[in-house]
Amino acid sequence: MSENITITSDQITKAAESLKELRPAYGAILDFYKQIFIAQEDSKDKIQIDPIQISEEMLSIKADEEFPLINLSEFAIDAKASKMLLIKICGITKESSGDMASSVMAILKAIDAEEFDFDSLFFGLLEEDDSVFEKTVKKHAIKKGDLAFIVYNSIKPSLSLCAQQLSAYLDKDQPWTKGYCPICGSHPGLSIFEGEGGERFLLCSFCGYKWSSRRLYCPFCDNTDTKTLNYFFSEDEKEYRVDLCDKCKKYIKTIDSRKTERIIYPPIEQLATLHLDIKAKEMKYESGIDFSL
Ligand SMILES: [Zn+2]
Ligand SMILES: [Zn+2]
Repeated sequence: MSENITITSDQITKAAESLKELRPAYGAILDFYKQIFIAQEDSKDKIQIDPIQISEEMLSIKADEEFPLINLSEFAIDAKASKMLLIKICGITKESSGDMASSVMAILKAIDAEEFDFDSLFFGLLEEDDSVFEKTVKKHAIKKGDLAFIVYNSIKPSLSLCAQQLSAYLDKDQPWTKGYCPICGSHPGLSIFEGEGGERFLLCSFCGYKWSSRRLYCPFCDNTDTKTLNYFFSEDEKEYRVDLCDKCKKYIKTIDSRKTERIIYPPIEQLATLHLDIKAKEMKYESGIDFSL
């Protein structure tokens, strides 16, 4: 169901460069994120996580109830690798991003003073415990959105490895028909058509897991009525479309990988399509993503 894709730094760079050529307006943003994505892929080699064990009994309950395998708070993360990545991301951000500069300086200062509680923030994000974020932003004058962005991106490689490990528990003969991630229960952030027949996959907005999905279907409200499922696309960007649901008024961006030759790295595609988010919102549709990290 999910391929174990490994992507090299070179491929990320190529994917970013070809998109920059097509859409120069995204140049600065792609240059910035490209470095973060490369740091995240590099970090994956260093991560060590003991696979999460799920008993047979628990598995059958979850399968019967169509529950995801774990809750967000159950993700295993490599705190040491995440800590190193956080420092690296702060370095990248300090160099490239004006907006986040003051928050990053404050984070680095707190780290130097040994007042930055990495573990509480990593696990606080997973437990959706806002108090640890509140405490940190107040004490060190950091913007909360910036802190959440940096913390989430630092644990993301662990989340994706953990999801890959857990996918071994999914029943390969029983396709997952729900609109939420079979691993962690989050909604998809992106949809992708692959292969000759254009099989549709959904990508989790939190852990990045990719699962096979019905073609005509709204993952946010289970709508399958073709009269209320529409999409828009632009002649200039045939590889993208935005799927709209008139029942729940949510949208999801879709990449048709058959219509482009370039390397598809979903986090980069997600970024380089912000104009489609703007258009969908102008049309009064909402994003179905649970996390705007
Ligand atoms: Zn997930
Ligand atoms: Zn819907």
